[in-house]
Amino acid sequence: MAAIDAPTGLRTAVAGRLGRREGGLVEAAPERTVRWLVRRFWPYARPYRRALAGSLLLVALAPALEAARLWLFKLVVDDVLVPADFGPFVWLAVAYVGLTLAAGLVGFLDEVVSGWAGERFLLGLRTDLFGRLLRGSLSSLERRRLGDTLQRLTGDVDAIEAFVLSGWATAVAYVVELLVFGGLLFLLDWRLALVSLVVAPAFGLLARSFSRRIREASRERRRQGGSLAAAAEERLANALLVQAYAGEERETRRFHGEGIACLQAQLRAIRIRAGFPAAVELVELAGGLTVIALGTYELSRGRLSLGSLLVFLAYLAQLYGPVRGLSRLAATVHAAAAAGERVAELLDERPAVADAPDARRLDRVDGLVELDGVTYTYPGADAPALRDVSLRVEPGRTLAIVGPSGAGKSTVLRLLLRLADPDAGVVRLDGEDARGIELASLRSHLAVVLQETLLFDGTVREAIAYGRPDATDEEIRAAARLADADGFATALPGGYETRVGQRGRSLSGGQRQRLAIARAFLRDAPVLLLDEPTAGLDNASAAHVLGPLRRLRAGRTTILVTHDLDAARDADAIAVVEGGRIVERGTHAELAAAGGAYARLLAARGAAA
Ligand code: ADP
Repeated sequence: MAAIDAPTGLRTAVAGRLGRREGGLVEAAPERTVRWLVRRFWPYARPYRRALAGSLLLVALAPALEAARLWLFKLVVDDVLVPADFGPFVWLAVAYVGLTLAAGLVGFLDEVVSGWAGERFLLGLRTDLFGRLLRGSLSSLERRRLGDTLQRLTGDVDAIEAFVLSGWATAVAYVVELLVFGGLLFLLDWRLALVSLVVAPAFGLLARSFSRRIREASRERRRQGGSLAAAAEERLANALLVQAYAGEERETRRFHGEGIACLQAQLRAIRIRAGFPAAVELVELAGGLTVIALGTYELSRGRLSLGSLLVFLAYLAQLYGPVRGLSRLAATVHAAAAAGERVAELLDERPAVADAPDARRLDRVDGLVELDGVTYTYPGADAPALRDVSLRVEPGRTLAIVGPSGAGKSTVLRLLLRLADPDAGVVRLDGEDARGIELASLRSHLAVVLQETLLFDGTVREAIAYGRPDATDEEIRAAARLADADGFATALPGGYETRVGQRGRSLSGGQRQRLAIARAFLRDAPVLLLDEPTAGLDNASAAHVLGPLRRLRAGRTTILVTHDLDAARDADAIAVVEGGRIVERGTHAELAAAGGAYARLLAARGAAA
């Protein structure tokens, strides 16, 4: 075996000092980046440091076993083959088998232990990132391309693991191999070992230029990967639109186009990486030939045995793997740095709202809701979505907010839910500034029914219990009855245990809305936020929803956002919003008579009808 490897050894003549040189290659990545990467993500690895230390030990053991195996080969040549003496063969064979078994066991344990730590690290980092994304700023989550975010959550996290855990272990393994085999070369014949260092400076230059070039390519590759995932996600999520407009071919072509950019970035990195070993081999060959020349001379002077020269070449061959490996590792480092940047960007994002240090819990509220001089601009938007808006809804009363779309109606609800804080002005619940109330406590007093009810793939029962997972079956059924949902729920094939399908697709829009109302009943919060709860429903379905909604509103402070003037009609007060301002307020009768914005909306609707 080693004899067969020996010719490769020619190319590996650069011997032990490569360890440091190639270590330098890793550091030649901008120092800040690598150090930053490790510092940034080490906390996720810390819990598994014992396993990591164990795996490093195993990793260091492997080259020692390998070196011993090769040494046996020298003994076979010098003590068995050259003297043609069968005597020592048996114990050499036994030792060989023993070492092979030991190496196998070490390899197995290392794989298992480092795999365990790596997978744990991945899960921990990924879960933390996911939790932060969910808790983070809603508008920035909405602004990002979902596919790209998913890519960061999956592929980029993997790339970080590949360096922060696996990468380090591999690097240590390589360095140990270089030290062990390099050291042995010196032990065998220091003159030959010195000669094999002749080519080291050429190596240094090669490594430098490689490292510089692979860095940019890696960053570009990760960026393009995210953008490809985003393109796929957007097209697949809107497959209905694509098919309805026969856009399959076009979108596939467009996807292909996006893929081309990704492919080019990938190919560039591949070219850089593929060119490196060839250059490395040339340099090594030069060193190797020098070694052979000098080795032959030493052999002829009797200063070296044939077995020693062969094992020298075999050890050189062993250096070849780590040298290549370290160059690959440089690519891993840069990929990890690029991925780390992308993941850290998400991890470091501040939530738009957070509990103030002195935030208070509100245990019971009457449901007095106020906005006082509120102005709010979405991050990145040019103009405010709300300007100087003031509202006051007494406990148990209903305020309808009407106006054209884009006027800022839903933004009022977002501020009440405290998905964002106003830039100016105050939102109050029972007279308390919402910013001074613990978020969880604030939201526990609110129930929402949105325009399109979102359901996760789960059972009807789980959909209703979403806001109160500890609710009993009795309570769930009672809520469903109040929401007129009990009838259709019991009629489903599996009753309350029927799965609703992804996003509740197996239910009609009206049924989903009634489940949302049941959910709000179960939550039993004093303040109710309704965002176009009947939009998108046909008249019959809407009629089925209006009854339960009216029951739900009874006794709760309700803010109803709608462009359906019929739904707004029986509210205690109506506010008309246009361009982020409240332009008019009063009851239906007052506003209809006033001849202002509301009357114009009424007239426009009449004309349309
Ligand atoms: P309405 O509910 O009356 O249709 P919205 O409150 O949804 O209006 O929106 C008010 C304004 O804010 C619109 O100009 C809209 O484009 C803008 N807007 C809404 N949501 C966002 C967002 N997440 N990021 C940036 N601008 C937004």
